Amino acid sequence: MQTKLSRRDFLKLSGATAGGLFLFSKPIGMNLARGTRPFSLHKPIGETPTICCFCAVGCGAIVAAQDGRVVNLEGDPDHPISQGSLCSKGIALAQLNTVDGEINSRRLQKVRYRAPGSPVWEEKSWHWAIEQIARRIKGMRDKYLITADGEGRTVNRLEAIASLGGAALDNEECSLIVKAMRALGLVYIEHQARI
Ligand code: SF4
Repeated sequence: MQTKLSRRDFLKLSGATAGGLFLFSKPIGMNLARGTRPFSLHKPIGETPTICCFCAVGCGAIVAAQDGRVVNLEGDPDHPISQGSLCSKGIALAQLNTVDGEINSRRLQKVRYRAPGSPVWEEKSWHWAIEQIARRIKGMRDKYLITADGEGRTVNRLEAIASLGGAALDNEECSLIVKAMRALGLVYIEHQARI
């Protein structure tokens, strides 16, 4: 019967074999020890499995970080969906955190708002942004909801707002968004991947 060896199994086996050779072959161990300085095997770098956030495929990646910076990122061969592969967006995932060894200072972490006609971007809180979105949706719906068509049939549709989903949304998020938009009466519901 053929046994399938995963990447992790392979690394464990290689480590055990190398350790065995080191322990039991005294001359090799002595030669290695001679003229070298002791070093710690406990480096602060750990591999952490993660999921790519860029689209709903959800490929698996293994990320290694040191001092808060990503030092390596690669596809996870043990992941059941992607089996070690990442597309060009996925392989650039590390840049969310680190660019050329430094924390990516260009990543926006706060709300930026530019009022209509204004050339200035203002920094706002998440609370402010969510309240604004809710107020504007309600205002548009109150003003533009079409309750009946030309023949008096109830339609309750809102043509003044459109919804555009993004590729990072997964199935469950898309399902909830469509339910919420339909409840508001939207008819123009699209997704970035279909454009
Ligand atoms: S963006 Fe690419 S790597 Fe990331 S989940 Fe989608 S297909 Fe996978």
